[in-house]
Amino acid sequence: MAMRGIANRRSLDRAGAPRIGRVLAQRTLKSITRAVGVGLHSGQRVELTLRPAPVDFGIRFRRVDLPQPVEIPMTAEAVTDTRLASTVSSGAAKVQTVEHLMSACAGLGIDNLLIDITADEVPILDGSASSFVFLLQSAGIELQKAPRRFIRVTRPVEVREGEGGDLKWARLAPHHGFKLSFEIDFDHRVVSSTGQRFEFDLGSGSYSRDIARARTFGFTKEVEYMRSRGLALGGGLDNAIVMDDTKVLNAGGLRYDDEFVKHKILDAMGDLYVIGRPLLAAYTAFRSGHALNNRLLRELLAQEDAYEIVTFDDQKQAPAGFAEVARAW
Ligand SMILES: [Zn+2]
Repeated sequence: MAMRGIANRRSLDRAGAPRIGRVLAQRTLKSITRAVGVGLHSGQRVELTLRPAPVDFGIRFRRVDLPQPVEIPMTAEAVTDTRLASTVSSGAAKVQTVEHLMSACAGLGIDNLLIDITADEVPILDGSASSFVFLLQSAGIELQKAPRRFIRVTRPVEVREGEGGDLKWARLAPHHGFKLSFEIDFDHRVVSSTGQRFEFDLGSGSYSRDIARARTFGFTKEVEYMRSRGLALGGGLDNAIVMDDTKVLNAGGLRYDDEFVKHKILDAMGDLYVIGRPLLAAYTAFRSGHALNNRLLRELLAQEDAYEIVTFDDQKQAPAGFAEVARAW
């Protein structure tokens, strides 16, 4: 791993100090904001308080319900369980289902945030990232006096699992920007009749409109089985697309024609953002999920020559649309 700024001598003033106004700056919230909901799996009531945080703080959860509050900083290694959802932990303290909130942070380019939480699961809200986007936007986004540090992928890294019909893979390749291309392959009448492949470019500024509203989904058979095991207790038609063997049961139908694959992109953005910094890369995946996405991050970090940390001292050298990402709705 090399550390360098995409230097731009023109952006330095005569004294050699960067002109902060033109730097692509780190972002936090302008004010505190709160949300209350239930956890998808626990069914438990949970309260979130999102707080502004200083430069280079990163994103951290803080379990404030424990006798001694415990902070859990976002890192690839903090992810300790990827069955059903991404769980992060520090010692015995954990927070489940972090991916939709992390996706909203990635979509709006939030670098520094302290998230106080009163239970071990992020509230599911409407099953998408749009409520989190709304919360973050309502609190306002503040530009900070330090450059955003990106992880720029410098050569392809790939992880695979299974073979033949069970094959899944995910890959990061060099790209000046951040785009995701995802393909699903569900053998289900409803899903397979929708678009199964989608590509999204973060620089387009359309995250909130095109990705954030895509909901998580499940099948009635699975839901019954999960409930019998004490899972999905907070799940239902208000926070997931639920299907039986032939149709979507939600009265309003789908929010997008290709809502399933868009939700997989939403999830991947959240899963990848736990690395703690925004990526400059092209992510491509076939039937990937939380586990493989996390393996991909660990594989990248294990190969020190596959990435470098970069900053943009002049916004003009950043990928198109990156300076505007947080402002777009
Ligand atoms: Zn999800």
